[in-house]
Amino acid sequence: MTGNAIEVRRLAKTYAASGKSPAKEALKGIDLDIPRGSVFGLLGPNGAGKSTLINILAGLVVKSAGQVSIWGFDQDRNPRQSRAAIGVMPQELNLDPFFTPRAALEVQAGLYGVPARERKSDEILRLVGLEDKAGAYARTLSGGMRRRLLLAKALVHHPHILVLDEPTAGVDIELRQMLWENVRKLNDEGMTIILTTHYLEEAEEMCDEIAIINHGTLVARDSTANLLGQLDKKTMIVTPESPAETLPDAPGLVVESRPDGALAISYHLNETPAEAVLEAVRNAGIRIRDVRTVEADLEDVFLNLTRSR
Ligand code: ADP
Ligand code: MG
Repeated sequence: MTGNAIEVRRLAKTYAASGKSPAKEALKGIDLDIPRGSVFGLLGPNGAGKSTLINILAGLVVKSAGQVSIWGFDQDRNPRQSRAAIGVMPQELNLDPFFTPRAALEVQAGLYGVPARERKSDEILRLVGLEDKAGAYARTLSGGMRRRLLLAKALVHHPHILVLDEPTAGVDIELRQMLWENVRKLNDEGMTIILTTHYLEEAEEMCDEIAIINHGTLVARDSTANLLGQLDKKTMIVTPESPAETLPDAPGLVVESRPDGALAISYHLNETPAEAVLEAVRNAGIRIRDVRTVEADLEDVFLNLTRSR
């Protein structure tokens, strides 16, 4: 047994051509280890291959080549055990409209061979805040409630690994908080969590480690702290009290004057602390009415990473 929840080797997926769409190489030979007990973030822009990777792990998409091992079980040699070790909350809202949440959980538990006495449907419904809706038809549930139900379904067989595919895309704040609280709770209890997102802040907030995937290739894999540490480019937006006559000037600053009178000052945090930027602004005789900073975004991460290789 290794310390990894997931081990993926030279994993490739090409979707066959169909109708007018040509064949698509969605994963181009990925190697990835995900440690047990971590909250692991899989980041990348739309179309990068995140869902493909996750759906292969879940056994929902058939890989074209490579090896996948889940909780120490080879997916090809031990399909049943590897499937039992993982629960997936999919990106798509695919629910049977005629099932109630409780029935949906019972059916799912049956599919995974969970004996009746080991089922915890009510407990899981409570965990995701759906206890009031246990007997309502799925078609009467709001979008947020359906997502809660998808999370509940992923948990029925008490998996070692929980995978959440873009869990917060388009959800309201309350649901987001519920998700993160549950993720933390489950992780504290020992569950390994893998989540995909294209929000860097979200990964920063939640994940111990991050892999970045783009065009079906792994472009980075590191601890969140290390990865974000590489991204020290910041932009300070300064709104002056009155139009600036002189622009701030100091080594390492790039200043752009915006049409609305604000100054966009880019700097590298490693070289220039925020105080030095503010000092340069004051030295230029500018009185600051408002100031905010803009973090590097995922786009910058990709640019950084692809430039440095
Ligand atoms: P992500 O989740 O990162 O947005 P996906 O894994 O969904 O990316 O998609 C990766 C690529 O594979 C995209 O170009 C997408 O259009 C394509 N793709 C995904 N699913 C299918 C499918 N079932 N058939 C054909 N192409 C697909
Ligand atoms: Mg996706």
